[in-house]
Amino acid sequence: MDRGEPVEAERVPCPRCRKGGVVPVMYGYPHFTDELQEALRGRRLVLGGCVPREERWACTACGTKYLEEPVPGARPGDFVLGVPVEVDVLRDGRRTRGLVTVRRRDPWTVAFRLRGSDDGPRIAAQGDDLFAAFQQLSRAAARVGVRLLVNGSRRDAHRCPPGSPGAERDVAFLTSGDATAPILGPADPDLLGTPEEQDRAHAAWRAGSGT
Ligand SMILES: [Zn+2]
Repeated sequence: MDRGEPVEAERVPCPRCRKGGVVPVMYGYPHFTDELQEALRGRRLVLGGCVPREERWACTACGTKYLEEPVPGARPGDFVLGVPVEVDVLRDGRRTRGLVTVRRRDPWTVAFRLRGSDDGPRIAAQGDDLFAAFQQLSRAAARVGVRLLVNGSRRDAHRCPPGSPGAERDVAFLTSGDATAPILGPADPDLLGTPEEQDRAHAAWRAGSGT
């Protein structure tokens, strides 16, 4: 046993605290065998308690539990299911911060609230794919004076063609060839459009490209 350092280096950093690594969770009453104690000492495993939960992964530092293993080398706006992503928003024209959480898939469920505000709007939306759910969220947010400054709000954004890399979680930009980016990645306010503008732009693009 080499005290676990090489393994440590390969762990995906915790998206929330960036201090710990994300490792498997073990549920139930553990038998404290030598192997288990070694794994706990080496921070290759965390104990999740007696009652099994859906989350299979957890951070060794802050203890945040994850439904799925976070992606290494995450880009701005990449998300882990159930973990809020902090984004810039315009609220009644003023820039502030909000939290978007992709709660689950099937159906894709997205939630929004303002950061550090208990009395602000809380919005949830669903869709058959993430882009559809996000468009629903955008419509509901616009009704309470909030615009999200993210790629999913760009007027040239659309769902990625199925089968392309990141298809489920990224958006494609009609104006820049085959470029794709995380739906919650930051976007300039000048680029924003409504869901209706997005759909019109996509229809025009399809007509123009003959597909
Ligand atoms: Zn953490």
